[in-house]
Amino acid sequence: MSVLGNNRYQCQICNRIIDSWDGAPMCDHELRIFVPGRPLPKQSARFGKGRSWQPKEKTQYKKTVELFVREAWLKAGKPKYESPFSVRLDFVFAWPKSTKKALRDTYAWRTSRPDLDNLTKMCLDSLSLLIPEDSAVVELWLTKRNGPADKEGVTITIMNSRPHDTDDDT
Ligand SMILES: [Zn+2]
Repeated sequence: MSVLGNNRYQCQICNRIIDSWDGAPMCDHELRIFVPGRPLPKQSARFGKGRSWQPKEKTQYKKTVELFVREAWLKAGKPKYESPFSVRLDFVFAWPKSTKKALRDTYAWRTSRPDLDNLTKMCLDSLSLLIPEDSAVVELWLTKRNGPADKEGVTITIMNSRPHDTDDDT
């Protein structure tokens, strides 16, 4: 995708300009999935070398994301997406309870934890159905905001990138 600013971007395959992240899917080169619920980060392994361990809560969250991805993909008619991939992840967290009521329906950058890179890792790990190798992701567009409680979750947008930008030499 090409990001144009002001929540607009352009499909690199069909050149369609998309105005918002919240509307319906707009072209065949894209799949957008909203996964409701508080996004969880991946964390680095806790125990010894070569052994990866994640708390049950995180394993469960990963399964949830995978389920939503599968469902959206089936609903879209099992489209085939090909490398290289462009991925956009928009994370929204409900405001803390202590936030003034007037603010709770607004959006603002979230500068507290969890870290955006760890949230991203968790999501990319959950996309293996559509993106078997993370190395095929050539563009990432990421946001982390606080927002209304009913918007809490992550919106995953997967797009094909322009193939001729691929560098297959390495
Ligand atoms: Zn397109």
